[in-house]
Amino acid sequence: MAESVDVLFFGAHADDIELCSGGTIVNFVRAGQKVGIVDLTRGEMGTRGSAEIRRKESSAAAKILGASFREQLDLGDGGLRTGREEEMQVIDAVRRWRPRVVFAPWPDERHPDHARAGQLVTDASFYAGLRKIETKFEAHRPQAVIYYVQYHIPTVSFVVYVSESWETRMKAVKAYKSQFFDPKSSEPRTKIAEQRFLEMIEARAIHFGSLVGAHYGEPFVTKLPPKVNDILEAYGGREP
Ligand SMILES: [Zn+2]
Repeated sequence: MAESVDVLFFGAHADDIELCSGGTIVNFVRAGQKVGIVDLTRGEMGTRGSAEIRRKESSAAAKILGASFREQLDLGDGGLRTGREEEMQVIDAVRRWRPRVVFAPWPDERHPDHARAGQLVTDASFYAGLRKIETKFEAHRPQAVIYYVQYHIPTVSFVVYVSESWETRMKAVKAYKSQFFDPKSSEPRTKIAEQRFLEMIEARAIHFGSLVGAHYGEPFVTKLPPKVNDILEAYGGREP
């Protein structure tokens, strides 16, 4: 049987995953779990950089996070397609890598590519388990789809403690030199290339960390509640 991973992260664009859940990936890797990343588009519509530059940056970022692999589909940046053909490509990614858990963008996001990606991955993760949908890979259904949040932030289901993986996570974010703040860049200015954007990202992690007694936290949403074995541990560390 082909190699499998414990966890598979899907993003609409390279860098979505680093910005929202990079610390969680570092935690998985440090715990000895195998993590794969699939970007659904090539990022060809970005104002700065190019698909080729972003591809190099994203593979550097994946190495920093410790992911086992990163691959890219081509479902259309700035108009992500979600037809049956695209769904079959995502079904095959799930079947090929056989993850126990899948991560995806929250399907009610502001950027339509993120919202579409969230729904596409949710549907494909279910359909991947239907044996009668035949592809070159065996049927496989992950145990859960967990959502990371980007802009529209609903009530979160849990927060992952990422204080100790924060530095590595930010190193991975900064691997996207064409996208984020670089005082030497002569590329056009964009909202995410302002220094303020990285401050906002940090402020958000501090906010969610503060809710769970940590310096930095990454929030997630699930449709099913997580099972908690140790409530004292889950709510520990908040004492003054
Ligand atoms: Zn994005």
